[in-house]
Amino acid sequence: MRVAVRRLTKRWGAVVAVHDVSLEFARGAFTTVLGPSGCGKTTMLRLIAGLEEPTAGEIWIGDRLVFSSTEHINVPPGRRGVGLVFQSYALWPHMTVFDNVALGLRQRGLRGEALARQVRAALNRVRLEGLEDRYPGELSGGQQQRVALARMIAVEPQVLLLDEPLSNLDAKLRLEMRAELKRLHHELGITVIYVTHDQVEAMALSTRVAVMDRGRVVQYDTPDRIYRTPADRFVADFTANPVMNFLEVDVTATEARADGLVLPLDPQGPPPGRYILGIRPEDCGVSPNPVSGSIPFRVYAELSAGPDQFLHLRRDTVQLVVKTGGRLRVQPDQIVYVTLYLDRLHFFDPETGRRVEAAR
Ligand code: ATP
Repeated sequence: MRVAVRRLTKRWGAVVAVHDVSLEFARGAFTTVLGPSGCGKTTMLRLIAGLEEPTAGEIWIGDRLVFSSTEHINVPPGRRGVGLVFQSYALWPHMTVFDNVALGLRQRGLRGEALARQVRAALNRVRLEGLEDRYPGELSGGQQQRVALARMIAVEPQVLLLDEPLSNLDAKLRLEMRAELKRLHHELGITVIYVTHDQVEAMALSTRVAVMDRGRVVQYDTPDRIYRTPADRFVADFTANPVMNFLEVDVTATEARADGLVLPLDPQGPPPGRYILGIRPEDCGVSPNPVSGSIPFRVYAELSAGPDQFLHLRRDTVQLVVKTGGRLRVQPDQIVYVTLYLDRLHFFDPETGRRVEAAR
C-alpha cells in the first residue's frame, strides 16, 4: 500500500519539527527518511502511525485519508493498518518468544492451532524457528530485534514503519540485520518506511531516500542520484562516506582557483563566479610521481583501515582528504600528486548551498 503525506506540518510551540512536507512513499518500496538528530524524522513516522496529531496537512494510507486537518479526519493508530517497530523494541521480559509474537494476534482473537501456525510462520520469516520457548533475556541483541520484527509482521501490516531498529546492535549484527531486513522486504513485498541517521544504512537498504534538514525534505531520490548529484551542500556533506572536501573557489571561463591552487575546468565548470567546490575523497587519483595535469600536495597524515587508505593532504591553506586506490607507501611531508576527476566535481552556491550545474 502506498503512503502519502501532503503539506504535513507539526509544531510544538516555536519548534517546527515537520515543516510543510509532501512525500509519496511508493507501494512496495523501501523508503528511508534520513537526517541528523532533531531533523524531524521520528516525528514524521509518529504522525504517519497516528501517535502524534499533525498541526496541518493530510496523510493517506492506500486510498484512505487517515488524517486531514481541514476535513477533521483522524483515524486512531490501531485502525491505520500500519506496524511500528521502535529503536527500543520493548519485548515483555516475563513472556516467552512465542507469547511475545502472539500478543497482537491474540488481541485479534486468534487462538489454538491457527495462532500457533501464524506465530511459527512469523518466526520462520526472521529465521528464529526453534526459539519459541526462550525468554528475551536468553537471546542475543540481534535475536531480540528479530523477535520484535516477527511480532510486527505476524499481524501482517500493509505498511511497516521502522524507527532506527538497528541502533542498539553492534557493527557486525547491524550488517547481518540489514541483510535480513532487505531479504524480508523482498519476500513480503510490503511498503517499508525506515528512519535512520546512518547514511550508509540508508544507501544500502533503500529504494529511495528522503533527506531531511530542520523539518524539511531537501532531497527525495534514489541512493545513486543522491550520491552523484546531491541537491545541496548539506546533502553532500551528510551523505558523504566518510567525508566530502569543500573548497571556496573562484571560477573563470577555463579554471577554478583556490588559494594558489588552479584547476582546469574545461568543459565541466559552472558559469564564472564564486562557489563552494565539493570533492569526494574517492574522486581523485593520487600518485607518488608527477602525472600530467596533477597537483602536488604535501602528506599531512596517512590513515589506513583494512583495505581503505586515506591521505590527509595540505597545500598552502588548502586541505584535502583523498582515498587511494590501493596502498601507497608514503611518509609525512612527502609530496604526492593528485589528479581530480573533473567530471565528478560538485559546485554549490556559497549563499544558499544549492547545487549549481555545469553551464556548458
Ligand atoms: P533523533 O534522531 O535524535 O531521534 P529526529 O530527527 O527523529 O531526531 P524528532 O524526534 O522528530 O527528531 O524531533 C524533531 C524536533 O522536534 C526536535 O527539535 C525535538 O526536540 C522536537 N520535539 C520532538 N518531540 C517533541 C515533543 N513531544 N515536544 C516538544 N518538542 C518535541
